[in-house]
Amino acid sequence: MCYYDNYKFACNDWKWGNFRQHCQQEYRTGETCGMKMVYQTLPLADKCTMCEKIERKKRRVEKHKTDYQRWAAADPQKYRFSMEKALEEMKALGQEIQQLVADKDARFRQIGNTRRG
Ligand SMILES: [Zn+2]
Repeated sequence: MCYYDNYKFACNDWKWGNFRQHCQQEYRTGETCGMKMVYQTLPLADKCTMCEKIERKKRRVEKHKTDYQRWAAADPQKYRFSMEKALEEMKALGQEIQQLVADKDARFRQIGNTRRG
């Protein structure tokens, strides 16, 4: 087990940072053993890039929704095509968000498998 910095994002996701220290076992050989342990946890003010991406897309969905509602209230006949387009984009964004969330889950499940100390 070798020790690494551990960065914790504002969204509670995390990633490994720099290598810090060999464990007893591997100290003599000078190699890292592949089993990662947390040396110290460093909080980050930002959210991870995946969460940021997801939030940006969510904000776009919100914007389309607001536009759609505004058009529907104003003149649905006149804005028919814009409204259809907004619906399509919301659907596409929804799928992208789902995919990103699945990717993120898979990624952190994978990291989570290495033992944390
Ligand atoms: Zn995150």
